[in-house]
Formats: sequence, C-alpha cells, structure tokens
Amino acid sequence: MYKCDVCNCIYDPRNGDTEHGIKAGTDLEDLPSNWVCPVCGIEKDYFYFMENENPEYLEKSRIVSMLGIILPQELKKQWHNIHG
Ligand SMILES: [Zn+2]
Repeated sequence: MYKCDVCNCIYDPRNGDTEHGIKAGTDLEDLPSNWVCPVCGIEKDYFYFMENENPEYLEKSRIVSMLGIILPQELKKQWHNIHG
C-alpha cells in the first residue's frame, strides 16, 4: 500500500478508490495521471510505498479514523456489519 507524504492517508491497491472510479486491485502505477489524493488533493507522485502490515500504518489509520476520515477497509468492515 502507499502513503500520502502530505496528509498520511493510505492508498491501498487492494481496495482501490471506488469513490473516485478506481477499481479494487489498481496499483498506484496504474492510476490515471489525473488521480489525486482523495484527502488533500496532492498528485500521486507524493505517495510512497509502505509495507502492508506495518504497526505504524495501523497507528496512522487509527488516527485518520479519529479525524473522521473513513478508510476503504473500514467501509468494507461496516458493510459486513450491516449485511452480515
Ligand atoms: Zn494526501
């Protein structure tokens, strides 16, 4: 997955960015050149690769959640909660 160097939000290719028409499984490299960070609007060049199961990522995602930004994987979890 990739982290935005500006706002620390996460782009996870496994989830894509379905809100902005990016299918799950789209790697950062394959994003359209006009794709920008959904949170801060910076270009994808500012995203850098990070390991998936990084404790720092989990910590960051908690912080992001506290800020009221729902990550794609959180949405998925909520969907499962609602639909069983
Ligand atoms: Zn950003």
